[in-house]
Amino acid sequence: MTANAPITQDVMTLPRKLPEGGPVNIVGLTREELLDALVAAGTPERQARMRMGQVWQWVYHWGVRDFAQMTNLAKDYRALLAEHFAIGLPEVVTRQISSDGTRKYLIRIAGGHEVETVYIPEEGRGTLCVSSQVGCTLTCSFCHTGTQKLVRNLTAGEIVGQLMLVRDDLDEWPERGAPKDETRLVSNLVLMGMGEPLYNFENVRNAMKVVMDGEGLSLSRRRITLSTSGVVPEIARTAEEIGCQLAISFHATTDEVRDILVPINKRWNIRTLLDSLRDYPRLSNSERITFEYVMLDGVNDSDADARRLVKLISGIPSKINLIPFNEWPGAPYRRSTPERIAAFADIIYKAGYASPIRTPRGEDIMAACGQLKSATERARKSRAQIAAESGL
Ligand code: SAH
Ligand code: SF4
Repeated sequence: MTANAPITQDVMTLPRKLPEGGPVNIVGLTREELLDALVAAGTPERQARMRMGQVWQWVYHWGVRDFAQMTNLAKDYRALLAEHFAIGLPEVVTRQISSDGTRKYLIRIAGGHEVETVYIPEEGRGTLCVSSQVGCTLTCSFCHTGTQKLVRNLTAGEIVGQLMLVRDDLDEWPERGAPKDETRLVSNLVLMGMGEPLYNFENVRNAMKVVMDGEGLSLSRRRITLSTSGVVPEIARTAEEIGCQLAISFHATTDEVRDILVPINKRWNIRTLLDSLRDYPRLSNSERITFEYVMLDGVNDSDADARRLVKLISGIPSKINLIPFNEWPGAPYRRSTPERIAAFADIIYKAGYASPIRTPRGEDIMAACGQLKSATERARKSRAQIAAESGL
């Protein structure tokens, strides 16, 4: 991979043929969209807002999938809902559980495409890593997802659906009548799975609106982190329209090296990116930006890099997350040695920054950061087959 490599790869984009006429899936609709859909299905206008709130709670607070169980709605109204709507989640194809408890799900979305979702349990909390696209159009040279050539944006429902199906698997819906359980197995959500979330902005935003809603899934925006490779024009919008925590895939301290590792840098370079971040904490009312830095042996891990890094980010409230490179078959890099990572972390720490080193999780099931790439459909199917299935 050279600096002349394209920023985006030659991908096969999969347009989505929207279902015509069939039931509307409620999962992933914002409150306003659900309201409109209920009215369109024949809910009297003056009742619509109340009905919307009731349905919302059943679906997102109680995890109910069957309209018949929505007992505070009249029977004939439940029948009307069942006629016009569905409560649909992506389908789990496989689930692998690592020796450290990490769970990796391969899920199938409309059109037969597959993405991965990873649940990482930790002491007192649990983080869900969700995907926002099938594959990724960008070509970061150290990332496995970037080598996958099939790309389609996930719908808001498919993004929210990842959280809901993991809650199903962990049996984490509240029980009616039981005392409120405050411990949450999925307490945090990170948009760090497959795809570049800021290239699927509207769907990611709408999905997060649903996820953050206090009368439903109720994850606070402080417990949601969106990771981007640096899509500068969408960063201010993320602050204003989502307001979650932000992580930046930084990974290099000179444009020369970042051009190769994170080719989007050729469009928005380090200076432009950093300038776009200065206002983020104020706009989003969040505390700190996380700089992710993957440790690649002999590429970006020198003492000089560490010193440049702290200098570059000075003035931006931040923390640095060092990620030991997760190797994948055929990867063109090696992980930095533990000694090198420790020395690098030390320089950052002495400069006054928290510098946690991310412990690789789920390595035995290839669930670690940047390794997500389902055994591609492409390997198994012909283009024609895929085209036929997606209704092209
Ligand atoms: N597209 C977004 C989010 C998905 S990647 C982004 O790039 O930020 C989530 C994080 O994993 C990013 O910081 C990414 O750079 C990192 N990553 C990708 N491949 C990796 C690998 N093989 N080892 C360690 N981290 C990796
Ligand atoms: Fe895409 Fe992020 Fe991987 Fe880069 S690191 S190829 S932006 S998923």
